[in-house]
Amino acid sequence: MSGLRVLIVDDSEDDALLIARRLRKEGHPAEVVRVETREGMEAVIGRPWDVIISDVNMPRFSVEGALAVRQRMAAQVPFIVVSGAVGEEAAVSFLKRGASDFVLKGKLALLVPAIERAMRDAEAARARRRAEEDLRAAKADLERALAAKTRFLAAASHDLRQPVQALYCFHEVLKIQLDGHPAQRVAADFGASLDGLRSLLDSLLDVSRIDSGLVKPDVRPVRLHPVLARVCSQLAIVACQKGLCLRCVPTRAVVMTDELLLERILRNLVENAVKYSERGKIVVGCRRDGTAVRLTVFDTGIGIPGELRAQIFEEFFQVANSERDRRKGIGLGLSIVQRLCEMLGHPIAVRSVLGKGSAFAVSLPLVGWAAANEDTAGVSSCVRQRDARGTRAAEA
Ligand code: ADP
Repeated sequence: MSGLRVLIVDDSEDDALLIARRLRKEGHPAEVVRVETREGMEAVIGRPWDVIISDVNMPRFSVEGALAVRQRMAAQVPFIVVSGAVGEEAAVSFLKRGASDFVLKGKLALLVPAIERAMRDAEAARARRRAEEDLRAAKADLERALAAKTRFLAAASHDLRQPVQALYCFHEVLKIQLDGHPAQRVAADFGASLDGLRSLLDSLLDVSRIDSGLVKPDVRPVRLHPVLARVCSQLAIVACQKGLCLRCVPTRAVVMTDELLLERILRNLVENAVKYSERGKIVVGCRRDGTAVRLTVFDTGIGIPGELRAQIFEEFFQVANSERDRRKGIGLGLSIVQRLCEMLGHPIAVRSVLGKGSAFAVSLPLVGWAAANEDTAGVSSCVRQRDARGTRAAEA
């Protein structure tokens, strides 16, 4: 430390000289400027000071006033209070107002170490601020890039829908014209590929809408059973066609959520349960867990290998579709589920035993219980179906 630029706030010329001499004696020649009023301090505070040293009692100014000027105009410059005698309480109050340190005039030997310490702290604080600013700038750049990517994706998937819609029309015409023709199978494959493409575009648009903040949750108390019943009855036919039993256990729980988004989450989970089960049953039910309700979709399907259980929530990750056959799904369902769960603050967990089945559980804040008669209405809207063999195949 050498060539210090020191601003002294003190009414005593002698005290200022004493401080300058002490600094010089300790090997720190200093350029010292002394002020004794607010106006004087404000006139020079803009210069690049290394440290401000202030007396406490001055006839035309105060240490509190000097601290306020420094806070307002040069908050980064270390500020050391030097005083003849002052109580512990007053010293603490100076520190609370932003002083870096406190030195008694009778112990001026402590001044240089105090200045060195304060300057080191100030430098560390400057470095921290610079790092924080760099981080903020990098974060802002990243957010801009992500927003641009999301806008691009949303525009691309939106604009691609129109030609896909046109392809659907051509496909319908082809189907009619090829009726009975050997090439009819090609038209059927064409239709299946189109379904895959449309579901890919829909999912991409969903992801980009969620990522860009366009989806605004409308969270309010929601009766859970009607949501469960709706999803189960919509998917009962597909389950039934696969010979699966789809069952929804009645509940009177009222939870805090966005009804439409929760329905979307549940539909994706039940669709997966149906897709990845070849036999057995799928049960949608819930259980109280303290102040929450755990809504679980159980299946007796193929299960998920333990080491892949975290990855299944990643975009486009599929356990077994290396050929990327779009008819076997596109790998976006669970990443949409995870995004929606995060947005709603509903933790999601998965348990699975390979070859035996899986359970996806979403925790929802419990608000209360609906009256029993309301639930009966919910259950009666459920469907019971019998498959071609006459056995019960789906009960939702
Ligand atoms: P998709 O079903 O379109 O492939 P998802 O994101 O919904 O995409 O699921 C990702 C992967 O997780 C699936 O490809 C499948 O391998 C696995 N998976 C999801 N749900 C289940 C389930 N209930 N049982 C077994 N595997 C599942």
